[in-house]
Amino acid sequence: MDLKKYIRDIEDFPKPGIGFKDITTLLIDPKAMQESLNQFVALAKGKGITKVVSMESRGFFFGPMIALEINAGFIPVRKPGKLPAETISQEYALEYGTDTLEIHKDAIQKGDKVLIHDDVLATGGTAEAVVKLVEAAGGEVVQLDFIIDLTFLNGIEKIKKYQVNSLVQY
Ligand code: AMP
Repeated sequence: MDLKKYIRDIEDFPKPGIGFKDITTLLIDPKAMQESLNQFVALAKGKGITKVVSMESRGFFFGPMIALEINAGFIPVRKPGKLPAETISQEYALEYGTDTLEIHKDAIQKGDKVLIHDDVLATGGTAEAVVKLVEAAGGEVVQLDFIIDLTFLNGIEKIKKYQVNSLVQY
């Protein structure tokens, strides 16, 4: 199955010059969703992964599904002020300015083997920030799995120490 057929391109969203990869058209098709999940599970199985960590908000679609399939726990990474218990924060650079992501301080146990998942790898800034959060919390990053890698932005450079997988590339 060609998963690219299920990903919709929206030009100039959320601002002029950005070609947005819309995965809602993949999620709406159960066969494409199942195929994506099967591929993610095949990439993750048998590696001793104990936690799946995903970032708000489009990482939350497949993150929990992958976690259940490989018998791992799921941990959300969120924008500041959304998680109720004590958090660790990580600031990261955007094109203009900075943003921050947070994880619950007690979510990861020392020695946890972590899979990080998000929908799109673009510049890699978000993924790099989540790697830092996981490691600050005592976890070991096993791999990062994305639906889409926008390879022309070379985001992989920021996380090249790690195993990085994607289901489709542009
Ligand atoms: P980055 O930190 O630049 O790698 O951006 C990654 C985050 O922004 C991911 O959580 C994506 O959901 C979102 N994102 C960045 N670029 C795009 C794009 N062209 N289409 C859809 N989502 C994107």
